[in-house]
Amino acid sequence: MKLQQPKEEQTMSDSVRVEPMDSYNQELVQNTHPPDRPNPTPADRYNLVVIGAGSAGLVTAAGAAGLGAKVALVERHLLGGDCLNVGCVPSKCVIRSARVRQEIQDAARYGIDVPDGVDVDFPAVMERMRKLRSRISHHDAVEKFEDMGVDVFLGDARFTGPDALEVDGERLNFARAVIATGSTPRKLPVEGIDEAGYYTNETIFTLTERPDRLVVIGGGPLGCELAQAFQRLGCDVTILQRSGQFLRKEDPDAADLLAESFRKDDVTVCLNTVATRVSSDGGEKVLQLDSDGQEETLRADAILVGIGRVPTVDGLNLEAAGVEYDEKRGVHVDDYLRTSNHNIYAAGDVCLKHKFTHTADATARMVIQNALFWGRKRLTRRTIPWCTYTDPEIAHVGLYKGQAEDQGIEVDTFVQQLSEVDRAIADGEDEGFVKVHVKKGTDKILGATIVASHAGDMISEITTAIVGGVGLGTLSNVIHPYPTQAEAIRQVADQYNRTRLTPFAKKVTGGLMSWRR
Ligand SMILES: Cc1cc2nc3c(=O)[nH]c(=O)nc-3n(C[C@H](O)[C@H](O)[C@H](O)COP(=O)(O)OP(=O)(O)OC[C@H]3O[C@@H](n4cnc5c(N)ncnc54)[C@H](O)[C@@H]3O)c2cc1C
Repeated sequence: MKLQQPKEEQTMSDSVRVEPMDSYNQELVQNTHPPDRPNPTPADRYNLVVIGAGSAGLVTAAGAAGLGAKVALVERHLLGGDCLNVGCVPSKCVIRSARVRQEIQDAARYGIDVPDGVDVDFPAVMERMRKLRSRISHHDAVEKFEDMGVDVFLGDARFTGPDALEVDGERLNFARAVIATGSTPRKLPVEGIDEAGYYTNETIFTLTERPDRLVVIGGGPLGCELAQAFQRLGCDVTILQRSGQFLRKEDPDAADLLAESFRKDDVTVCLNTVATRVSSDGGEKVLQLDSDGQEETLRADAILVGIGRVPTVDGLNLEAAGVEYDEKRGVHVDDYLRTSNHNIYAAGDVCLKHKFTHTADATARMVIQNALFWGRKRLTRRTIPWCTYTDPEIAHVGLYKGQAEDQGIEVDTFVQQLSEVDRAIADGEDEGFVKVHVKKGTDKILGATIVASHAGDMISEITTAIVGGVGLGTLSNVIHPYPTQAEAIRQVADQYNRTRLTPFAKKVTGGLMSWRR
């Protein structure tokens, strides 16, 4: 996101620009940081002041105001934060266009003739993204929060004491505060990269022209999603990953399928590879690489860096508020999301290991109860699923096998390949699996990984089972509509149930189980 530095005679709100400043981005800014809008006169004291209007801050402010609290919300850039402006929303819009392009490219597999050569109108893809983002921005609009009774302050928040902060020269006194300042892209410490220039998620969605050759540095969720999407949209993408596996923390079988999918898409995959120096040569970026110990040179038109996120703690003057933090973990919180100042809480990326919109949302809901109603909601009681929206998607919940074993828990693992699932075959989406780990000798679900076209939707069934204490055996009795890809979950549960049968019962039911849908 290109934000101009405020000039002396400008107010902060005059300075916000989102490139390109077309009608869609004007609408986005009008909704989320209206220019020339004066801040309200602060109340004497707020029940709750929320710093940061991303997913965590917006949910906290809306929930608390809905319960009758006097709430102030402070945002220095755009309401909606990363998710709306430079994260989930724009990335999923671009990914959707990329999937459409791929389906048309693969149409012959489905018996559909399309003329040779599928053209991607890259500027139109990005315009569609801007159009949808501006439409969604109405949900996060300043006006909407004002209508809820929230005092919205646009500017930088900075603590001045344990129960007060300052924004735009005004003092806000509070009984409770919530720090929801999110995270920012981790910088890549490589010589020459600043001078050569690069994109992060904060700037890549300003593109209006397609870079012919794009190097993506980082094989985490962000790098993988965007590398595949931009390749499908016609860029020639090379992805560099420091280790030998994409999505380093993910199930290796899942990561292998993803690497295979990249190869089919003609993404150039460089594992065990780091950039050691970057320079520019005319319009080109020149990267020196260390690839498995070999020196190599790579030329590209653009570089996207996505090597992780760091919590945003700078400029908050947390010392004045008595809030402990460090640059890596962010704001320190206990299991109730309370900071070292017990009147100040934190939610979302600024304090969480799992940096997702749904965790920002879940922690915001906890904070409302814990901060305002003496609630005792605990972070460690939450079951957190996640999904990387590549094709196929990779979703996970609970423990990985290695994590369970590290905790001394013995594991039984059941796997259902999608190549055996009727709907996945019919859809031509039969690469993937459902893998479920249970506590050995029981059906207690410890964790699961799903690789499938819509794994992000499918994982919720397993998450519900874990949260509800429903065992894998019971999922076998849940009637799933036929034919759906989610039947793979029932089939993996059938596998578990078969292990419980006596030899006689196995013989009796053998016929049924061997022909089963
Ligand atoms: C490319 C990309 C794709 C993603 N896709 C997904 C996805 O598909 N699913 C998913 O669950 N998650 C996804 N995420 C992660 C998700 O966007 C974040 O986890 C989520 O936005 C975190 O919300 P938050 O409220 O904690 O922080 P943020 O959204 O970062 O909001 C924090 C806000 O605080 C403001 N702020 C900071 N400091 C101050 C200050 N001193 N004063 C006033 N305001 C301040 C910032 O301007 C910002 O608006 C993605 C992230 C990226 C980068």
